[in-house]
Amino acid sequence: MKKFKRYLVTAALPYANGPVHIGHLAGVYIPADIYVRYLRLKGEDVKYICGSDEHGVPITIKARNEGVPPQDIVDRYHAMIKQSFEEFGISFDIYSRTTTKTHYRTAGDFFKTLYNKGEFIEKTTEQYFDEEAGQFLADRYITGTCPNCGNESAYGDQCENCGSSLSPNELINPRSMLSGSKPILRKTTHWFLPLDKHENFLRQWILEEHKNWKPNVYGQCKSWIDQGLHPRAVSRDLEWGIPVPVEGAKGKVLYVWFDAPIGYISATKDLTPDWEKYWKDKETKLVHFIGKDNIVFHCIIFPVMLKAEGSYILPDNVPANEFLNLENDKISTSRNWAVWLHEYLEDFKGKEDVLRYVLCANAPETKDNDFTWKDFQSRNNNELVAIFGNFVNRALVLTNKYFDGQVPERNELTEYDRYTLSEITTIKEKVEYSLENYRFREALKLAMDLARLGNKYLADTEPWILFKTDQERVKTILNISLQISANLSTLLAPFLPFSAKKLSGFLNTGQFSWKETGSTDLLKKGHRINKPSLLFEKIEDGEIEQQLEKLRASKVNTEDKKPALKPAKEDISYDEFSKLDIRTGTIVKAEKVPKTKKLLKLEIDTGIDQRTVVSGIAEFFDPEKIIGQQVCILVNLQPRKIRGIISQGMILMAENTEGKLSFVMPDKNTENGAEIK
Ligand SMILES: [Zn+2]
Repeated sequence: MKKFKRYLVTAALPYANGPVHIGHLAGVYIPADIYVRYLRLKGEDVKYICGSDEHGVPITIKARNEGVPPQDIVDRYHAMIKQSFEEFGISFDIYSRTTTKTHYRTAGDFFKTLYNKGEFIEKTTEQYFDEEAGQFLADRYITGTCPNCGNESAYGDQCENCGSSLSPNELINPRSMLSGSKPILRKTTHWFLPLDKHENFLRQWILEEHKNWKPNVYGQCKSWIDQGLHPRAVSRDLEWGIPVPVEGAKGKVLYVWFDAPIGYISATKDLTPDWEKYWKDKETKLVHFIGKDNIVFHCIIFPVMLKAEGSYILPDNVPANEFLNLENDKISTSRNWAVWLHEYLEDFKGKEDVLRYVLCANAPETKDNDFTWKDFQSRNNNELVAIFGNFVNRALVLTNKYFDGQVPERNELTEYDRYTLSEITTIKEKVEYSLENYRFREALKLAMDLARLGNKYLADTEPWILFKTDQERVKTILNISLQISANLSTLLAPFLPFSAKKLSGFLNTGQFSWKETGSTDLLKKGHRINKPSLLFEKIEDGEIEQQLEKLRASKVNTEDKKPALKPAKEDISYDEFSKLDIRTGTIVKAEKVPKTKKLLKLEIDTGIDQRTVVSGIAEFFDPEKIIGQQVCILVNLQPRKIRGIISQGMILMAENTEGKLSFVMPDKNTENGAEIK
């Protein structure tokens, strides 16, 4: 592995139109924070960079809905996100934002450099324009029917129903989000970054030289490149954003995905006058931590921008994570199906490390993963409390009780002692290897193995029983237990910074360096430790039930609001309606149509006659349970052959928004054949 002189670690810029939730934490900020804290313990020169992404269409839409300027929206959420991160111990060296002066200058200059080098293509295309609002409709300002799945509220850049990425011109029946009117096409000029021109470079740099990237990242890059890259517009017709700094670009701003990653550079500039060392020296290791939805921007578009500019280094790795689900359902901001960080910090004061622990132990490193409150509780109670907390507490309490808080000497060693001591060093090396390779779940599990080892060692050696008969032996046992505790205070520090700091306080030591860790003599004989308190507390069922209740409430709320109703059909005349002959009838026989999932063959007494109707209701009703059911039936529908059966008429059913069917029938029993009009 190449040895670097310094590290620049970036974490994806959160979008400032809402607070941060556990999905963000597990995917990006916790793994990046663990990595950076580890590098700092090693004494490496590292800068950890992040900030709020404050441009783009969703922010302007939110501002419009609330009737406030976009600046108000980003000010509100920037402050909120920044504070939550701080309280949660995410240890950025700077948390900046993309509305700073430095960023406007840096992003503008970056664009200008590429422009002057002839790296863009200028293209005039036809784009949708809202005549009522007097505005071009970029990305989410336009909605319409998805050409792939028929979803009637797909956006101009994406259909959230089928996940396909779209351009506004592909939408069927496009409508403006601003006025609701049908937009017209109007000519506009934009600048495009010709990604196709850089295909050979990307093939070489990613597919040949970075085979060590995580399989999910490498695979997505390969599929983008193999599908063929296209020029990508880097400007938009919008008012909110960084103005395109060339002549003839009035009313145009940089595309948010052009300016946002440059935010890493601007933030570094505001952090240190030495910023160029971190961005332009080949001996710097640049690592981007992101979620899987950002892979294309960090592995393809931003590197092409950096390479085209010419003076910047490229990322050494982009360890993107998959997504975290919540209680078996996709995390969703609009449905409020999330655990919000600012709410967690209120509800679980002083338990920052518990969430850090659970989100790392269960991180979606290689596949999507699920967070459940039950798992949260059981990991706290069975692992943090019962193993780590319990071990440390016993070692420290016994030392205080038997030896007045002074580290006892280590006497003659047994085979078991020697094995236990040797594991301290082995485990440290394994944790280090996993951390270097961005395998944080594994690293945490290994570090916890040391606590497990200590806990078992104490349970096996039982110093509280031996003390009456063999105090010399107890000295050795507690010495070894204390050495393990001291090692835990460093090994677990990147993962559980608050608890590790507490533990160092109990041990009355400063923070050990990574280099010292793995030693079996961190605590000298006679060193005085402090009186401990508990590192972790049990989480009771009631607290978990409250969180589940909160989630249930948001499910009910969003279902109440769900208006997925179709608009009324076009008007018809009374004559047209009166042609329908609808009667009351009764089901007298019902059976499944063989080899179909949905169809039932029904015999209906219509008062006029008894006839056969094939009906698509088998998913909702058992045939034997609906005999005798009164129904309404359209009797003058042309007979149709369905699966070889002549169906004469149609049963009326009500369908709710979830597609569930129920019978339509008179409110009191009515003789068969009554007319419905
Ligand atoms: Zn679709």
